[in-house]
Amino acid sequence: MRPAWLEINLDALAHNYNLLRSRAGNTQVIGVVKANAYGHGAVEVGKELLRLGAWGLAVATTDEARELRKAGIVARILLMGSLHPQQAREVVELDLIPSISTLESAEALNALGKPVTVHLEFDTGMGRVGFQPEEAPQVKEHLVRYENLLVQGIYSHFADAEEDVLWTKEQIAHFKQVQQVFGPGYFYHLCNTAGTFNFGEYGLSAVRPGIGLYGLLPHLGLKPIARLLAKPTQVKELPPGRRIGYSGLYTTQGREWIATLPVGYADGIPRLVFNRATVRYYPDDQPCTCPVVGRVSMDQITVKLPGPVGLEQVFEVVTPDFDPTSSLWGWAELTGTVSYEPAVRLAARLPRVYLRDGTEVARVG
Ligand SMILES: *Cc1c(COP(=O)(O)O)cnc(C)c1O
Repeated sequence: MRPAWLEINLDALAHNYNLLRSRAGNTQVIGVVKANAYGHGAVEVGKELLRLGAWGLAVATTDEARELRKAGIVARILLMGSLHPQQAREVVELDLIPSISTLESAEALNALGKPVTVHLEFDTGMGRVGFQPEEAPQVKEHLVRYENLLVQGIYSHFADAEEDVLWTKEQIAHFKQVQQVFGPGYFYHLCNTAGTFNFGEYGLSAVRPGIGLYGLLPHLGLKPIARLLAKPTQVKELPPGRRIGYSGLYTTQGREWIATLPVGYADGIPRLVFNRATVRYYPDDQPCTCPVVGRVSMDQITVKLPGPVGLEQVFEVVTPDFDPTSSLWGWAELTGTVSYEPAVRLAARLPRVYLRDGTEVARVG
């Protein structure tokens, strides 16, 4: 096994799942596992969410759904985004619940001659996909003509439930308009993670969290579920004046201990964090923070140690917290983005080890 791996803490996942659910009146949860469960591994995360009682899973692409089906997951899978008519056949083949935002996609699905359960999406203010709320009466009228489509759910998506209370309330009002047209008996869902925390009273039939399950938002009681771990492949003492890494962006000041860790930007470490990120290890159970020195290479980084360590020493390259220099959240801050982005960049080539109660229960790669 490669001496670099992602460790996923399923207890932390359960903590986040339960916290999110409790914020929305213990309604149902659609576990969003698109983009390989935000980098954490869709199959194992998906199985765990279902074990925790999730209503179903949600993905962005048919290939993501296929991976889940191949792994034996038979639960409901919502395909988010606006279904393209050319994907109608795959939806039926994979037994997915597609999101319908256009009459073209409804037509294409209906034409296949098999009953399909669908969710309708309405655009209440995101401006991306969905029927317009004022079209609801016509949409309702139209869809009854499609004898093979069973409308089970109706949903919408928030554009800024983190910050913009007024806009979000407007979105909720538009959604209520849609609910009035369709009436009771549908599976209504609206809230992403931010919506679940800030507008949990609109949990409706289910909430649809993604980032919160992975614990990647600070100050909410969530726990990051991933650690990126690596053992050094070389540890050496260098004299002063030695340059390190591409372009020689770091020069040793005195005699310095340098360890090379076998992870790089091809594993998802943003190249831009060089000379700012840190890694951590625990000699004698005390945390010791070590700066990343020099450029992040494709497959390796170099870190400055206080002294020598053996090649069995494990370093946390991503810590399961909100440290500004060693967490996924911190990397996002350092590179001017949101924690979603470093998370989804965690490379497929990293082995993933899943722990429950501190014991390995699954391994991928
Ligand atoms: C990605 C996505 C979510 C999850 O959003 P988070 O902010 O990660 O909680 C929910 N619904 C839709 C439609 C999405 O595309």
